[in-house]
Amino acid sequence: MDHIVSNLIRIKEEINSKNSKIDQGISTKIIAVSKTFPENKIYPLIEYGHIDFGENKVQEAMDKWTKIKEKFENLNLHMIGKLQTNKVKHAVKIFDYIHSVDSIKLAKKIFEEQNKIKKNIKLFLQINIGDESQKSGVELDNLEKLYFFCKNELRLDVVGLMCIPPNDEKTEKYFSEMFEIKKRLGFKELSMGMSNDYLLAIKYGSTYLRIGSKIFGVRN
Ligand SMILES: *Cc1c(COP(=O)(O)O)cnc(C)c1O
Repeated sequence: MDHIVSNLIRIKEEINSKNSKIDQGISTKIIAVSKTFPENKIYPLIEYGHIDFGENKVQEAMDKWTKIKEKFENLNLHMIGKLQTNKVKHAVKIFDYIHSVDSIKLAKKIFEEQNKIKKNIKLFLQINIGDESQKSGVELDNLEKLYFFCKNELRLDVVGLMCIPPNDEKTEKYFSEMFEIKKRLGFKELSMGMSNDYLLAIKYGSTYLRIGSKIFGVRN
């Protein structure tokens, strides 16, 4: 079997064995983050039946996925990287989910562009959970304002919250905060956990793990 497929299967088995001990009600999906990897690394996963994939750049996603999505219609492509407003027009065409909504300006642009093509993209609000000046994501203090604007003014389909925690030893604290905020605002989905912390993320109810290198290998 293709080694990329066996990597995915191993991770799934690991997650299932943990999930049974924790919360039966939560289903955890894996987004295979294929950024920097070419189509021939992606096809084996699609043929195996995997449907959720992630990219962090609009141009790269268009180059790779326009063709793939013509052949396979049931795939979900997730935008997990920072999204500039001038790229939204293209992003709404190729992506089914956007995980990085972090401002009213961006939300308005998504609303405008997806209406033009009559598409309804599922959105996550990205929280700057570690309050890092260099990172994107909405600050906690502005989260509810952004959420209620998206929901009530624009009627966008906001399904959950996303974070990329700081690279420090407090990951568990950030994940637990995310879980509390998700519960308080009544979201269904939580997008958190990457190759090196996905087991911790499912402990705190993550429903979308974004896993790249542990599936595809190291990126250069
Ligand atoms: C690249 C990336 C991932 C996957 O990272 P790995 O450590 O390779 O699993 C997850 N989320 C975001 C936002 C990314 O940019």
